[in-house]
Amino acid sequence: MTCLKFESTWKVVVGCRHSDMTDKEKEKIVLIIANKIRSVKDDIEELQELIKPIPLDASIGRISRMDAINNKTINEASLREKRKILQRLEKALERSGDKDFGNCQKCGNEIPFGRLEYMPHVTRCVDCVG
Ligand SMILES: [Zn+2]
Repeated sequence: MTCLKFESTWKVVVGCRHSDMTDKEKEKIVLIIANKIRSVKDDIEELQELIKPIPLDASIGRISRMDAINNKTINEASLREKRKILQRLEKALERSGDKDFGNCQKCGNEIPFGRLEYMPHVTRCVDCVG
């Protein structure tokens, strides 16, 4: 595998010690992102169904109605969250062709593969989050 980062004399002198993602790993992440996008889109559709106004004549009791309203609030919050994640996933997919994909956008260090695998939409390493 070729190092995209240190192609200069540096590589010749000390060898490439830069541990960029392998192409295989990258492929895997891209696949994970694509799958996540699909499942997040499904979730969004489902949530959009769930937050439809509750018809007043629905044959549910008062308590159930309150439950339904509470759930609606939770569902709306999670819908917002999912939309945010979807945006970030789509951005991650666009970025997946970049040389520095998989690197922290703040410190430039490599984001551990396990972290990307679990949350492919992240753009920062654990140290730089927050
Ligand atoms: Zn960082």
